[in-house]
Amino acid sequence: MDSERYLLTEDNKALRDIAAHTPYDALMIMVNHKRYGGGGIYNFYCSFCADTQFCEYIFIHEFGHSFSGLADEYYTSSVAYNEFYPKGIEPSETNITALLDPEKLKWKDLVDKDVALPTPWEKAAYDEMDYAWQERRRKMNDQIAELKKKGAPPAEIKKAEQAYARKDREHSQKVDEFLKKSRYWGKVGVYEGAGYSSQGLYRPMVDCIMFSKGSKPFCKVCEVAIRKVIQHYLE
Ligand SMILES: [Zn+2]
Repeated sequence: MDSERYLLTEDNKALRDIAAHTPYDALMIMVNHKRYGGGGIYNFYCSFCADTQFCEYIFIHEFGHSFSGLADEYYTSSVAYNEFYPKGIEPSETNITALLDPEKLKWKDLVDKDVALPTPWEKAAYDEMDYAWQERRRKMNDQIAELKKKGAPPAEIKKAEQAYARKDREHSQKVDEFLKKSRYWGKVGVYEGAGYSSQGLYRPMVDCIMFSKGSKPFCKVCEVAIRKVIQHYLE
């Protein structure tokens, strides 16, 4: 599920009536809108806006939630639910952990050799870079909302939206480059920062499409979880 991107209907009956016109296993709703957004709930459905530069990413990310019950691995963007995962309780999702007992780590069989648990990564530098962008992003979005509210000329609004889209893309590229330089890039370990929490929750790899935006694969742990659901439908 995704916070500010939340885009889900509560009218399940109407939705299922429409979907029932054809046999289906998984339900995905493409929304013809340019607003950045989407949402996904396990075993339910996912939705995503089609008219944004990140539409492919949003679709695959939300599919991860709705098809395989994956958790969000990100933690820097502000979300509506603080303390979504109560402290001291292991989250039920397969791709994040509170690491209460490293011996019982749920993806232990996938952890690379010579990787420490928890796995050190360049978190302080990442946090500095990403929290600064989140702040900037919030301001730019507020400005766009303000322009719309006061009825600014469409050309001015469009210009502000384009400037935001460009910055958003540039930041994503910067994050990708940063993470790829990580000492443990490509290694499965236990990296602190996941599930909307900077501390106390961990993800399996430095990067994953459940962690950051852009054109990238699922981490190995997420991949295994997706394979299991596909297998379930096949059997
Ligand atoms: Zn993952």
